[in-house]
Amino acid sequence: MAQLNINLSKIEYNARVLQQMLTRKHIHLTPVLKSVASDQRVIERLNKVGLTHFADSRLNHLTPLRDTDNTFTLLRPSRASEYKALVETCKMSIQTELSVIRELNEIAASLGKKHQIMLMVDWKDGREGILTYDLTHFVKEILPLRHINLVGIAFNFMCFNSIAPTEDDVAMMTQVVDAVESDTGHHFRVISGGNSSMLPLLMYSDLERINELRIGETLFRGIDTTTNVGIASLYQDCITLEAEILEIQPRIYLETGDKYLQAIVDIGQLDTMVNELKPIAHQIEILGATSDQLMLDLKGQDFYQVGDTIHFSLGYSALSLCMFQDHLERNYEEDKGIEAVNRNFSVNACSGVRR
Ligand SMILES: *Cc1c(COP(=O)(O)O)cnc(C)c1O
Repeated sequence: MAQLNINLSKIEYNARVLQQMLTRKHIHLTPVLKSVASDQRVIERLNKVGLTHFADSRLNHLTPLRDTDNTFTLLRPSRASEYKALVETCKMSIQTELSVIRELNEIAASLGKKHQIMLMVDWKDGREGILTYDLTHFVKEILPLRHINLVGIAFNFMCFNSIAPTEDDVAMMTQVVDAVESDTGHHFRVISGGNSSMLPLLMYSDLERINELRIGETLFRGIDTTTNVGIASLYQDCITLEAEILEIQPRIYLETGDKYLQAIVDIGQLDTMVNELKPIAHQIEILGATSDQLMLDLKGQDFYQVGDTIHFSLGYSALSLCMFQDHLERNYEEDKGIEAVNRNFSVNACSGVRR
């Protein structure tokens, strides 16, 4: 049966590399778990690296984790029917509507809680967010709310519009944050500068006031999301898909009359985004898919047999959709060699205090 192979050692390694990269610049790493549906085993593994605050866009992913020692930020504005569950489950959320924030304040009051929020500013992504010139007004309205703690400002890039952030953006973000702080007298504890698309900029420039990044895709796929190219120091294959050959038959291409050897495997459009699957280390071609089957041209290679498995790498949507499926088996793997490197990593990271 088709299954997901989740290599916890590789995920831990990627997390350690990213964490070290960010810590050197005094930036906090918040792993974004929506592409792995807040998988419990993945969270436990990230705990080993000292990561205990996570973000997801779906409340139902986080609800089962409510009573753990971890804390959560909800990334997406939630439905009115979810406000109570939101305050109960998440320490923090990203908000963009004053009416909602006022309601969350009432709910938090009735629960005897304080709820932390960050205001999302629409910079140039064109998805959610308030406009920069409304920020001061929002802050002034929110500060008197006794059960809302306005901890920061969040920015987002490349979720809807694929325009990468630049050094000019960083400079202007600083100006906006400084201006709002001096207008309102309120200090923002967190400046959440964006997602994986900020990482290339982090590598060669200073991110100024940004002290948090919300990282999903680069953590689990090891790629630079501004170019879609793998980052050499990270694993690109932390999570792969394995599907089983159900049938092998000779067929004929209708257009050309050419013969080919076709295999069918047990994954289809209902399971994932099939056009983002790529066979790993097989010289074969994906011909297409129906709801439950994927058709492959084996390129004449006659050593494949029914029952063999084919491994696929997953694009971001393919990964997110697969992890969303409860019926796909999850096979958690470890790798002894990488484990050894991971153990060594902690030593290296602390070498400054060794005597
Ligand atoms: C998905 C998401 C992220 C993470 O984005 P990646 O590109 O996967 O790092 C960060 N912030 C928000 C608001 C998101 O929706």
